Amino acid sequence: MTFSHTQISQYLRCPRSYRYRYLDGWQEKETKASLLFGRCFERALAAYFFGEDSAATLFKEWGTYRDANLEYSKGDSWDRMAHQGVHLLELFARDDRISIRDPRKDLQVKVTRSLPNDNDFVGYIDALGQLDKTHCVIDWKTTTSRYPEEPAGLLALDPQLICYSWITGLSEVAVVVFVRKQTPEIQYLKTSISEEQRQEFGRLIEATASQIQAGEFLPHSGIRFPQNGCVSCSHLGLCLGDQSLIDSKLIRRPGASDLDWLDQLEG
Ligand code: SF4
Repeated sequence: MTFSHTQISQYLRCPRSYRYRYLDGWQEKETKASLLFGRCFERALAAYFFGEDSAATLFKEWGTYRDANLEYSKGDSWDRMAHQGVHLLELFARDDRISIRDPRKDLQVKVTRSLPNDNDFVGYIDALGQLDKTHCVIDWKTTTSRYPEEPAGLLALDPQLICYSWITGLSEVAVVVFVRKQTPEIQYLKTSISEEQRQEFGRLIEATASQIQAGEFLPHSGIRFPQNGCVSCSHLGLCLGDQSLIDSKLIRRPGASDLDWLDQLEG
């Protein structure tokens, strides 16, 4: 069976949600403008490193959603996001703090690690390159709010960065945050992940994989206000038996490739 960080983090957030998504095939509809814009922006960044016109790539990619019925966050619109994106790309080029030696090999890098019981873990690293001349694993993020920089050391607890460090064995990691706000801003944040953190993360992955394979899918509903994870969970309609919520948020894809491993589990 092959695991990914998305799978493991979904299981850790709520095992029942994992079961809905990966066993029953209930996937969230891809209608969130911010998510789709993030993907288009990453393609524009790739174009920049290939020496192509990144703004034109952004308009071409994001242009495919111009008339789509997307869910925009408060204050967002197709035009506003396009202009913020171009502004951020210009800022990124002007800063010139990231270098990627070979964009063909060092962008969207697939890395695999083997786990016990013939399992694998697969991850896609956004980029391997240099930030201010330090070689590191790089994660791109597009968001509407700044990444918190206080208290000091917080970034070293970011699970995605720990995962990247564990899967590559590299201690230096960075996140480049493209903040879409009134005046767009880019944060270049760097941290080191310790060997102990990598080992602990490896143990967490192995323990989670064995719970999944043992078929443990109890719900973690998190019902105490205000930390109610159910409110933002795309599977809320299934837990509440609310058909209109299911119809608005989810699409069912039985036979999706995610389900292939079930044969092994059941066999
Ligand atoms: S609504 Fe709550 S209990 Fe149900 S799957 Fe989502 S997080 Fe888990």
